[in-house]
Amino acid sequence: MNVLVVNAGSSSLKYQLFDTTAGVVRAKGLCERIGIDGKIKHTNLETGAVYEKEIAMANHTVATKIVIDALTSAEYGSVKDMAEIEAVGHRVVHGGAYFSESVLVTPEVMEKLELCRDLAPLHTPAHIMGIEGCTEAMPGTPQVLVFDTAFHTATMPEHVYTYPLEYEFCQKYAVRRYGAHGTSHRYVAGECAKLLGGAEGTKIVTCHLGNGSSISAVKDGKVLDTSMGFTPLAGIEMGTRCGDIDPAIVPYIMTKTGMTPDEVNNYMNKKCGFLGVSGVSSDCRDVASAAKEGNHRAQLALDIVVYEIQKFIGAYTVAMGGLDAVVFTAGIGENDCGMRERVCAGLEFLGVDFDKEKNQGRYSEATELTKPGSKVKVFMIPTNEELVIAKDTEAIVNAL
Ligand code: AMP
Repeated sequence: MNVLVVNAGSSSLKYQLFDTTAGVVRAKGLCERIGIDGKIKHTNLETGAVYEKEIAMANHTVATKIVIDALTSAEYGSVKDMAEIEAVGHRVVHGGAYFSESVLVTPEVMEKLELCRDLAPLHTPAHIMGIEGCTEAMPGTPQVLVFDTAFHTATMPEHVYTYPLEYEFCQKYAVRRYGAHGTSHRYVAGECAKLLGGAEGTKIVTCHLGNGSSISAVKDGKVLDTSMGFTPLAGIEMGTRCGDIDPAIVPYIMTKTGMTPDEVNNYMNKKCGFLGVSGVSSDCRDVASAAKEGNHRAQLALDIVVYEIQKFIGAYTVAMGGLDAVVFTAGIGENDCGMRERVCAGLEFLGVDFDKEKNQGRYSEATELTKPGSKVKVFMIPTNEELVIAKDTEAIVNAL
């Protein structure tokens, strides 16, 4: 099945055209600076043809039309007309408490998605415009929504997702733990379970470490807990996000600086984390090289994140009543062998027999980083959220 996977961010739109039967990506591309000016880069992976152009994109509906023109171009496109695209799968950042699995787009689903606007104010409008753009360009082509929150909200127990605020308040304003990066955690936990011989009875901690980072406890293939919360600001230190802090710091900052609620939210999302602590960069590579040169604040930023990752692994091991595997994924998890080594250096007592030499290698496929016989295994597993979206879309459309 030809499935177009669309990932609409606040000012960008990434896409991949999958042939799910052959299991290949036929084309991919990125629209950037939507709402500012606009730029597209499209690659036909079958012919190698690349198309790059600066072109006005007032909003995501316009960007979708430009993507469709690229996909159907006689010169660098992949299909003669859009009728050859049998389904569209959209990545959706927040499904609130309404969606705990992927769904077919219907008028009722769009009504519920509208209710998620407040929970992801930057992303939800982009998703809605992306869906509307596809509906206009491909009327009748089924569309599926795959939610970043669904893997978590489907199975997290009530005592894990409920915050100890007033119960009625939380109900009224939909305040609870939702988590994020669920599609990535689902993919790598699934791949890890295959390597362990099946999900039943397994206790896995998945560490999605990128510019945004989250850690999940996955027991029997189901999420028990995850480090992100009501929003993706919670959890461990990230590129520019602070992660968990004492909530009383927020009104304290506001009183001291005069920041408004929006400003303090923006501050904690954009100015903190590696960037704020190190004063060097939000990029882990820059922070690591500054630390190597003796920059104390850069070293501190790394020490904080290593400690926090270990703390989550420890907490989740207790929560699950044991640990079979730790998975590292995303930009840092897949590439930063120094970070993996530092995290695993504290886990020997749990039964991790880490293979430092193997950890130094570069791998494009799932790789075990522990020695044979290690009681707890450590894996590096490259994430593939787009494949999950394509597969969910195919399954839902095939069942129509
Ligand atoms: P992501 O958000 O998944 O794209 O991950 C971005 C983060 O991954 C940044 O902090 C990068 O510094 C980090 N990263 C990407 N490639 C490497 C690499 N080769 N070595 C170390 N860190 C990397």
